[in-house]
Amino acid sequence: MSHVFPRQITAPPVKAVSAKGCYFTDEAGKQYLDGSGGAAVSCLGHGDPEIIKAIQDQVAKLAFAHTGFFTSDPAEELADLLIKYAPGDLDRVYFVSGGSEAVEAALKLARQFHIENGEPQRKHLIARRQSYHGNTLGALATGGNAWRRAQFEPILVDVSHIAPCYEYVDRAEGESAEDYGLRAAQELEDEILRLGADQVMAFVAEPVVGATMGAVPAITGYYKRIREICDTYGVLLILDEVMCGMGRTGHLFACDADGISPDILCIAKGLGAGYQPIGAMLCTKQVYDTIGAGSGFFQHGHTYLGHPTACAAGLAVVNAMFDRDLIANVNTRSEQLMTALREAFGQHPHVGDIRGRGLFLGLEFVEDRDSKTPFDPILKTAATFKKAAFEAGLICYPMSGTRDGQLGDHVLLAPPFIITEDQIGELVGKLQAAA
Ligand code: PMP
Repeated sequence: MSHVFPRQITAPPVKAVSAKGCYFTDEAGKQYLDGSGGAAVSCLGHGDPEIIKAIQDQVAKLAFAHTGFFTSDPAEELADLLIKYAPGDLDRVYFVSGGSEAVEAALKLARQFHIENGEPQRKHLIARRQSYHGNTLGALATGGNAWRRAQFEPILVDVSHIAPCYEYVDRAEGESAEDYGLRAAQELEDEILRLGADQVMAFVAEPVVGATMGAVPAITGYYKRIREICDTYGVLLILDEVMCGMGRTGHLFACDADGISPDILCIAKGLGAGYQPIGAMLCTKQVYDTIGAGSGFFQHGHTYLGHPTACAAGLAVVNAMFDRDLIANVNTRSEQLMTALREAFGQHPHVGDIRGRGLFLGLEFVEDRDSKTPFDPILKTAATFKKAAFEAGLICYPMSGTRDGQLGDHVLLAPPFIITEDQIGELVGKLQAAA
């Protein structure tokens, strides 16, 4: 009997014993193609000798050093590398152990940024419905997915949620894409004015919505307008690229495609590529200097900040992405996968939408393809599909709903960047076997 506390108590998971490249092997010797990189984590695939060596060398040299006393070479080098390629004025990197921690740090930084006479001034936070920003209480409160929040509502801090930018559901008949994007962005200005322009700390959003909507990018122009609105009212723009960042969408940072840069950027998953738990919060010089000139102390921290071994893994991962030109491969394989998915499922009676960017694609299941009537209840179809795919030897990640957080079912496809053309064929064949 297992003493591990599984997430789904009624259906504990199968035991994996090893993984190499794009495949897992379980204890019975069965192989599974990793079609989702866990949940958009394993960008380099599994068992990469270069990353393993970097970790082994670092463990032997300096496994851990508390940031209350020390920084380390891997933390310094990884920060330099990220800043070299980061958009806009991002200038400082705060290393944490995962996505929720990166978001928590961003929220606290936003609170401490708006300071006058030594006291934080602003208290409101705006995010979007249908978003996911993590499972710790601050990050959960920021997320706008009704199902994930439901049991915890009474203990969540108050966050305003505006509409996500999702034309497939919200765009009016006859409305141009551009007008729709501007209309969706206008909700931010309206909400800032409703709450009081000098009271809003930050707006938080995922450039490509992952876990709750299944790889939904915003309309061109939406984020440019969002950036303008934030600038007008001095509201910090926090972009959560925990899932969609680090090359996943075919750009190193997803917001590169939107032509804007945030004040604070959160990354995780692909940064450690599953080899080590690591996340990071990047902020601009202006934000950093403001905290420095204020209390000079960021009132937030965790034991494993800037963990040298995790940073060594991150450094090796980012270097490998560049050395092996993996982001170019994301774009090539993305086109192949999208074409194959459209051929296989474009006319399927229960597939409502196939969308996404790079190797970050969502397949939506609906009751009726023409009316796009969603399946009900939540997750049923995606969970059933995930199970059938697992039996066929494919890992794909089930997601919740596009509409109001209750309905609509998706699976996320986010294979490692090293996936080959043949493996794309295998992936789509296994999806068909599961359908
Ligand atoms: N933000 C986003 C956009 C995410 O997708 C996730 C994880 N799915 C998180 C934050 C939380 O990350 P973690 O699970 O590493 O805490």
